[in-house]
Parts: sequence; C-alpha cells; structure tokens
Amino acid sequence: MTARVSHPHSVLVIYTGGTLGMQETPRGLAPGGDIETRLARALEGLPANLVAGLPAYRLLAFDAPIDSSAATPADWSRLAGDIAARYRDYTGVVVLHGTDTLAWSAASLAYQLQGIDRPVVLTGAMQPLEAKGSDAADNVALALQFAANPALREVVIAFGGRLIRGTRARKWHTQAGLAFESPNHPLLGERVDGDAVPYLDNGLVHHRDDAPRFELPDYEPLGDGGVARIALWPGITARQLSAWLDDSRLKGALLEVWGGGNLPEDPALLEVLARANDDGKLLAAISQCPHGAINPGDYAAGQGLKAAGVLSGGAMTPEAALTKLVHLLALPLDDIERRRRFLTALVGER
Ligand code: ASP
Repeated sequence: MTARVSHPHSVLVIYTGGTLGMQETPRGLAPGGDIETRLARALEGLPANLVAGLPAYRLLAFDAPIDSSAATPADWSRLAGDIAARYRDYTGVVVLHGTDTLAWSAASLAYQLQGIDRPVVLTGAMQPLEAKGSDAADNVALALQFAANPALREVVIAFGGRLIRGTRARKWHTQAGLAFESPNHPLLGERVDGDAVPYLDNGLVHHRDDAPRFELPDYEPLGDGGVARIALWPGITARQLSAWLDDSRLKGALLEVWGGGNLPEDPALLEVLARANDDGKLLAAISQCPHGAINPGDYAAGQGLKAAGVLSGGAMTPEAALTKLVHLLALPLDDIERRRRFLTALVGER
C-alpha cells in the first residue's frame, strides 16, 4: 500500500481495485495503476459547484488492486485492519471497491468495525474512470460528501445517488448505474439537488453514543472453506446436502430455503441438518425471496428447520448473514453466545 498526503483533517480514500480503476488489456478490463492522478482528473471533470464542496482526501492504494470477484474473508479482515489503524486521523473513510462483492465487504466491515463513530463509505463504479459517461467520478464525489458528514456513524454504500446501509445492500443489476438495492430497509440518504442528504432517522441512532468496540479476529482460517452458502432447489437430495455439511472442515453454513422458511419434509434431508448441528456447526437460514423475512414454523414444511436447530436469519441478505457467520465463527465464543449474537441485531442487519 502506498500513501500520499494531499491535506490534513480530510477523508481517507482506500483504493482496493474494481472497475472504477480498471483499464483495457488484451484479456479485458483489469485493475490499472496511477489511481491518484486518474481520480483527481476525473473529479475535476464534474460540475464546478460540486467539486468546490468536496472535502480534501488522502489516498491509500493497495499495491496489488484486485477484481473484487477474487476477494476472500482474509481480504475483509485485512481491509478492516487497515481502516482501524488509520480512521482516527480522518473525518471519514471511503473505500473504492469492485461492485461484484462490494456488498459482502461492506457487511463484513460493519461487524468488524462495530460502534464506529464516523462514516465508512464504500463505493465503486459500473464504468472505469475514463469511460465516456462513466459513473465513477460521480459515485466517488457522493461517497466523499457522505464521508465528511460526522452525523453518519456506520458502514454504508454510496452508489448511483443513494446511500444504503452496508449490511442491507445487494448488487441488483449487472450493468445499470443503479446497481445496488436495499430490499428490506429504507435508504440512509440520497443526493438531492447536488447535496448529499442523510436520512438520519433511518441510521443507527441507538449506537451513536457507543464507543468503538471493534472486533478484528483473523478470518484467514475460515477462508479455506469454513463457511458455505447452500441454495436449495426442487429435488435436492440428502446425499447432496451431506456432501457439504458432513465435511469436517466446515464450521458453519447459510441455507437459502423457500418462501417464508420452508424446505422438503424429507427425513433423510432433515437428518443431515440435525447431524451437522449436533456436530457443532453453526447453521442459519434465509429465504431465496429477495424481499421479506422467514419465520420457520409458520408452515408444517418449516418445522424441520427448527427441529434441526437451524437459526432464522429473518430478513437478512445473504451477504449480511454469511459474513455474520464468518465473523461469529472467527471469534472465541461458545456455541450459546454465537447463537445468541446471530439472532441479535448487532449493526442494523436484521
Ligand atoms: N468485476 C468488477 C469487480 O467487482 C466489477 C465492478 O467493479 O463493477 O471488481
């Protein structure tokens, strides 16, 4: 990582990679270099009144920026460590990140940086900085505006003119500029007439007076297949589920079940779940529906989940639920406390 000072008391911008900073290569778009010059040039191209209102920033660029499709839990913990080591010197932090796994990193940062007393704003772009009509400079400007607002005290995503809680975001479109949605929670802010307006009533109000209580465990061991995401499909067999859940290296799994929390009433399938739970694996379930919560047990077809000890993820996104499993499994907690925390809203994720 290289550091270049542009102004004191400013926003810290961390460049991790992603389309925003990519350039054409014979193999397609890949992370490019000299991000500081390129970003400054792109921001200068925005309307003068918007540029004049932007806070000063200091840029830290990862030595080897990545396409975020390559990110792992180890990258999430490294990023949280980088922010925790530096955030006190800045009014807020902006993370420039690829959009593919941006929502995963945002959710993970929220669990690691609990009680953060200033904004950590992730953004990226659907088009590189230099592309005609690119959304990159505009998204960075929005992120800088929100990162300079001391009233925001959580991990958020600024994208396409909107501000979304980090634990509530999902990438929703492969091409459109409005690439992120917040399916089960209202927006935390928006750009209105050029201003970045936070909707503070939707923010983490009850956490405001909490001192930072970061939890920065090592995620590296869990990156080696410790947590799985398993979407059920009509016809799934106990043999197939067992291939995932009976693996002794697995520590936890997120099941994506149907509707309000249902799965086949197949005794063999339910036995695989119960065995994994009895083996001490942390199992949770959410719905395959993007909107709404699960409530296992409303239907007879959901009783099996409860009986097998699978925790309800409520209305959590897959990103928020899986990164929470990783986080809780990386902490030195007993099973009862892990399960209690999973069912508790730690950072507005449920
Ligand atoms: N593949 C890119 C990435 O996630 C996509 C993007 O940034 O929009 O790094």
